[in-house]
Amino acid sequence: MKLLIQNASYIASNGEKKQSDILIEDGVITKIEENIKTAVDRKIDGAGLLTAPGFIDLHIHLREPGGEKKETIATGTLAAARGGFTTVAAMPNTRPVPDTKEQMDWLMQRIEDTAKVRVLPYASITTRQLGKELTDFHALKQAGAFAFTDDGVGVQSADMMLQAMQLAAKENMAIVAHCEENTLIHKGSVHEGDFSKKHSLNGIPSVCESVQIARDVLLAEAAGCHYHVCHISTKESVRVVKDAKRAGIHVTAEVTPHHLLLSEDDIPGLDANYKMNPPLRSASDRDALIEGLLDGTIDFIATDHAPHTAEEKAAGMELAPFGIVGLETAFPLLYPHLVKKNVLTLEQLIDFLTVKPAEAFGLPLGKIEIGATADLVLINLNEERSINPEEFLSKGKNTPFSGWDVSGWPEMTIAGGEIVWEKGCVTA
Ligand SMILES: [Zn+2]
Repeated sequence: MKLLIQNASYIASNGEKKQSDILIEDGVITKIEENIKTAVDRKIDGAGLLTAPGFIDLHIHLREPGGEKKETIATGTLAAARGGFTTVAAMPNTRPVPDTKEQMDWLMQRIEDTAKVRVLPYASITTRQLGKELTDFHALKQAGAFAFTDDGVGVQSADMMLQAMQLAAKENMAIVAHCEENTLIHKGSVHEGDFSKKHSLNGIPSVCESVQIARDVLLAEAAGCHYHVCHISTKESVRVVKDAKRAGIHVTAEVTPHHLLLSEDDIPGLDANYKMNPPLRSASDRDALIEGLLDGTIDFIATDHAPHTAEEKAAGMELAPFGIVGLETAFPLLYPHLVKKNVLTLEQLIDFLTVKPAEAFGLPLGKIEIGATADLVLINLNEERSINPEEFLSKGKNTPFSGWDVSGWPEMTIAGGEIVWEKGCVTA
């Protein structure tokens, strides 16, 4: 397949805004120059659009196997493509869990057969994510695991976490952690704060997260392991990561769009579309997350796309499962709310969704240059439209952002040199 994007406006790897044609041959960017004249399978008019590297989301839930009512690898990766994502890393809290070579082999084959974009599968740290025994890191790495995580639950035993980090270090792999100290969850469904008090709900305190991050950065120092903090949500957590980085510990962290844009003050009532884990914290936590992103404490943005059925979410704030979808709304939310409001520059936002996650995990992706994998998204920055969950290609419609007027919608997504999604062609 040979594609030519004509008059593409893009941001070069040195941060400069450029305009030229981009030629894609056999999945690779082979030429970037003005007025490329050559026969191609398709010419794409990039005028008036921003061409960016395909977005990378290192934290999503595809639910397959076992949760196909909520999402499948096919539907989740099509949703990713619609959101401009060309690489996603899938969490292992499926049934069964990818915790053996056999399960990982099955998953890799299923991805090969049904995924629309690149999927990097996480393997679990412990068998069935039960926190009782470690999985075979070496065999799982050989089978294709991207990194190790028990996302959805924290690893409770410090000894087990230390052993996991030592093994991961030996395999040159990262430990990716959902940080929650079980004895501090207090059966909470929301943040312990103003909202929980007002509605007499059990709250999850900030220390439930930060105390485990504090433990883990010290374990990572002892083990010499790359330790990555999932969906950081509190100001204390940001402080701990900042201190750890200053001490030279190999720690990285991600933050979600919803934790950057919302706080507990924005929850209108007992609507489970505002229920996620970690929960929406206080406004001062949200401000600390933005500051942490700006000063380099937080490395990149990841959506924690977590689809659930409407029936499950209808169970109410206390009983509904945690999680919201995020793949199809990330850029159109962040562009008007962070870039247009001058919190971030456009270059910074794109970096947080492309080259920053790539660099944190040593992936050779996220740049527009000759020889790079042709993962690209063409975005109409001027298109203003409100978020309508009924338009989502994800099976999950569970979002707190329904009806928000946003801008910066993707028009076309190219992954590995193939057009995997295009506005108006739903099943590309
Ligand atoms: Zn998590």
